[in-house]
Amino acid sequence: MALKRSIFPILEFDEWELSLTRGSALDPKWLVPGESLVSILWKFASANVLPGEALMHLISPRVGPPEGVAPVNIEIALRRLRQILRLPTDVLRVSMLGEAFHGRAPQAFRYCRLCASHGYHSVLYQLEDEDRCTAHQQLLRRQCPYCGGVTPYIVNASVIAAPFRCASCHSHFSYGQLPLFSTISAMRRRDRDAIRRRLLL
Ligand SMILES: [Zn+2]
Ligand SMILES: [Zn+2]
Repeated sequence: MALKRSIFPILEFDEWELSLTRGSALDPKWLVPGESLVSILWKFASANVLPGEALMHLISPRVGPPEGVAPVNIEIALRRLRQILRLPTDVLRVSMLGEAFHGRAPQAFRYCRLCASHGYHSVLYQLEDEDRCTAHQQLLRRQCPYCGGVTPYIVNASVIAAPFRCASCHSHFSYGQLPLFSTISAMRRRDRDAIRRRLLL
C-alpha cells in the first residue's frame, strides 16, 4: 500500500506561532455579519492550513486540545484571539456567546443547511429563542442528516478539524459537499442584510 504524503508541514507549536507572525490569511471580507467564532476558526484554519491541535494551542495554550473551550466571551482570552486572528474586537465579541452561557454544559451545534453550504454559521443560531435562519427561513437543525449525531458547540481540536461537518461521522451539514472556502462570499446581499438586521434586534 502506498503511503500518503502528509498535507501539513510538520511543525512544532511555536513554529506555527512564528509562521503566523509573518502574516496570517484571513480577510475580514470573507466573513458575514454575526459569524460565530467556530465558523471564523474553520475559515482561519483552512486558509492557514492549520491542524486543529495547533490552532487550539495558539488560542488557549492551557487547555487540552481534545477537551476544548466554550465559545463564550468570558472563557476565551479576547486579546490573544485578536492577536492570532487579527480581527477587530467588535467582530470577535459578537462572534461569541455572552457571559450568561458561562459554565453551562456544551450546547448542540445548531445550523441551517443552506448557510452551511455558503460556509456560514451564525452565533444567533445558538440562542434558544431562535428556531429559524433569518436569511433562508429554514428550521435550524441539531442533528446530523446522515447519522443523527449531535455535534457539540465547542472549540476543540476535533470540531476545528471538521469544518461544517458532523463531529461523529464527518458528513457535511450542507447540501452536497462544501467546496473549499472561496474568498468570495456566496451569501447574497439580501441575506446578509437580513442577518445584520436580526443581529441589531
Ligand atoms: Zn440559512
Ligand atoms: Zn453524522
